[in-house]
Amino acid sequence: METRVLEIDPLEDCRAAYKEAAALLAEGKLVAIPTETVYGLGADAFNADAVAEVFAVKERPHFDPLICHLPNARAVHEIAEVPEELRGLVDKLAAEFWPGPMTLVLPRKACVPDIVTSGLPTVACRVTSHEAMRGVAKALGHPVAAPSANRFGHISPTSAAAVLKELGGSIPLVLDSGACSEGLESTILAPCMDDKGNPAVRILREGPVTREKIREICRVVKPSKRKDAEETAPNAPGQLKSHYAPAKPLLLCNPRGPFQPQEGVSYGLISYKGESKLAEMDCWTQVMPLSPGSGRLAEAAVRLFAVMRAMDECEDVDVIVAEELPTVGLGAAMMDRLTRASADRNS
Ligand code: AMP
Ligand code: MG
Repeated sequence: METRVLEIDPLEDCRAAYKEAAALLAEGKLVAIPTETVYGLGADAFNADAVAEVFAVKERPHFDPLICHLPNARAVHEIAEVPEELRGLVDKLAAEFWPGPMTLVLPRKACVPDIVTSGLPTVACRVTSHEAMRGVAKALGHPVAAPSANRFGHISPTSAAAVLKELGGSIPLVLDSGACSEGLESTILAPCMDDKGNPAVRILREGPVTREKIREICRVVKPSKRKDAEETAPNAPGQLKSHYAPAKPLLLCNPRGPFQPQEGVSYGLISYKGESKLAEMDCWTQVMPLSPGSGRLAEAAVRLFAVMRAMDECEDVDVIVAEELPTVGLGAAMMDRLTRASADRNS
């Protein structure tokens, strides 16, 4: 199959492109669509066969549920049954963080096919700030079920070129709006009642909406030891120990060192600012800074997956070493991804 790349500029009128994408989705085909976090591989969420094709193309295990992209916050009520006691909190979170990189896991309605939620009683809802995904969902008239547009376990694509490398030849269309502005997958929250009977959230996946920002809105409770509905089956991209992984081994190292290179192995360093003690060592064949100079976590987050891909493609790098990042704000989500990328794939 030939994969067409259709360039769009969300500052212009793109309705024709969104219609074209929606027409393909309505036929049960798949389209790669940008969001502000990463590119998604979209299917009509109400078409179970099309959603099955998403799993097939990605080689994604079926225990791993998909996120449903909605044109606006009101559409949540078409697929989710928000419990009365959580309504106030859901509205507050939606007002604060939507459109944006936040996903809410809520009790599902029967119209959502089992394959979308991996049979869970909940559905993951998102209103992205990227006009393309919202525009396509609006033109389709159904939610778009979309995981990241990469093969399972690989690094998420933050550009159309990265999508083509992952899925070129397997899907008919990629909407190309350039690089993603956030670069890390959405924060996933499960609204719930805390032990005192007050509305709170559990963070199922760290992301661009940081723990600190969420705490300004509500209490964050720890995932309970007792596995309940939202926490059972999905333990997948978000939660699998090994994920977001480059093909090459990736090691994490303190920026102050020490790092002991092995003879005969070439190492590439992913450095936060490019000017640490570690970066000054002479054992690197490549040093790629995430945020050169000043070191801004937001810039680092946007570049993280692209830099991981670039290192993976460097011929003179056998092993990737990544500096540990401060685990405040966006750093927590980045360390989450790096830790999973470094996890032993056989464990
Ligand atoms: P992605 O590949 O970025 O689309 O990741 C989707 C992730 O969202 C899954 O791997 C889960 O971690 C999470 N997710 C989706 N649906 C649910 C759900 N119903 N309950 C809990 N987590 C979910
Ligand atoms: Mg993914």
